[in-house]
Amino acid sequence: MKLLNACLVATTILHSSVLLANEAQDERTAARAAVYQENPFLRKAVGRVQGFGNAMSIAVANRMYSRTDTAALADAKNLATIEKHGDGVWLLRFPWVNVAVFETREGLVLVDTAYAPAGPALLAAIRSISDKPVHTIIYTHHHIDHMLGAWALLEAGEKPQIIATALLEDEVKRDIRSREFTSRLNNQRLVDFPKSTAELPMPTRTFHDRLELAIGDDRFILQHAPGETVDQLWVSVPTRKTVVIADYFQPFLPNAGNGKRRQRYVESWSKALRAMVDAEPELALPMHGPALVGYPEISKRLGGQARMLQTISDQSLAALNSGIRKYDVAATVGLSKDFDGNPDAAELYSTPADISRTVIQEYSGWWNELPSEWSPASRQQQAREIIELAGGLEKFMQRIETLRSTDIVMACHLADWAWLANPSNEDVLRLASRVWLHRLESTVIPTQEAVEYVEHVVTLRQQLDGLNSP
Ligand SMILES: [Zn+2]
Repeated sequence: MKLLNACLVATTILHSSVLLANEAQDERTAARAAVYQENPFLRKAVGRVQGFGNAMSIAVANRMYSRTDTAALADAKNLATIEKHGDGVWLLRFPWVNVAVFETREGLVLVDTAYAPAGPALLAAIRSISDKPVHTIIYTHHHIDHMLGAWALLEAGEKPQIIATALLEDEVKRDIRSREFTSRLNNQRLVDFPKSTAELPMPTRTFHDRLELAIGDDRFILQHAPGETVDQLWVSVPTRKTVVIADYFQPFLPNAGNGKRRQRYVESWSKALRAMVDAEPELALPMHGPALVGYPEISKRLGGQARMLQTISDQSLAALNSGIRKYDVAATVGLSKDFDGNPDAAELYSTPADISRTVIQEYSGWWNELPSEWSPASRQQQAREIIELAGGLEKFMQRIETLRSTDIVMACHLADWAWLANPSNEDVLRLASRVWLHRLESTVIPTQEAVEYVEHVVTLRQQLDGLNSP
């Protein structure tokens, strides 16, 4: 009985902490909306990749786990387009993401199924193009915008085999184990976030390395190759001279250096792109952005991105091997002049420096090789010391104001220190906010980085609101 009570108390605490987390998320959503409304330029500052090569939907962006959000369901349906690429091959283009469909004699083969709110639109789209059952679903990787839409097909009575690499399930479980953190990281509503894999359309069949399927008269070769994620795969369909290139190709410098998310595998990614070219396809279907048609185009563009990734990887390793300290390596890498003006090298989402940091992470531990940073004083202590040395907060803030128009990157360092040392000082919070907004307005910043700067402005605003509320 005592144990039961303890369990009840624990459950209640857990339950109320979830409620609090949801409430905190609502408050943050409201603060974020206010920041965007007060600073209309921010939409452009964070929207450089638009819909990742597809239509964009803000309603979908934050509700990718939801099967019920009416605005997200409506956008997924209304913004979807169906592209036919020869006999029995389609690319279904939803906001943010695509689904590839192949009609075989035995039934449909889908590569990916988009996010949860796309489920009903996906079902409607495939019913409009074919009356065959869904025979097989292949997940290219565990990201939620690639697999969650399958729920609507299963609910409608389809009984496909669902295939992924053997690593996918572990990746999904990691997301669930870190659900509060991950939902914040990806700006997803915690209330939508699954608590176990039982709530998700998980694979029914997995493989290691390579799997060849004969379905109807077609052959599908699934090839595991870590890239954007460790569990990622690509698909070659030699009977259609087609490759499904998943997230290995993006119509801008690839998302291979995401500072927020799990490890990317740059060299393996580059190799996978070259293997796709070696398959000599006439059609390449990406999960983001438009299809690539014709071998010369595919070879040029996939080969180009393979070279970009390989170059950054090679340069980073050469720098590490030469003894350049890790914290200085990223600043030494760059693409050669022949990539100038190439839209596939555009730094809309990541920079070569971001990708370099990811490479370094593949080869080494967390220490940045600055001696004092192995066991550092807290950032707050460092900030207080620096401000005192500078002659006090007032002088320090004046310097930030000066640097704001002459060296915005340095102004941001100083703004961080001022904020760390004085998180409850109204003037500091206002100045820090002004400095970060100025950086967002006056410089061109890749999307992922810009989003994080906006999130910091939202944090500053919430701290200001906290000071001013009774
Ligand atoms: Zn993706």
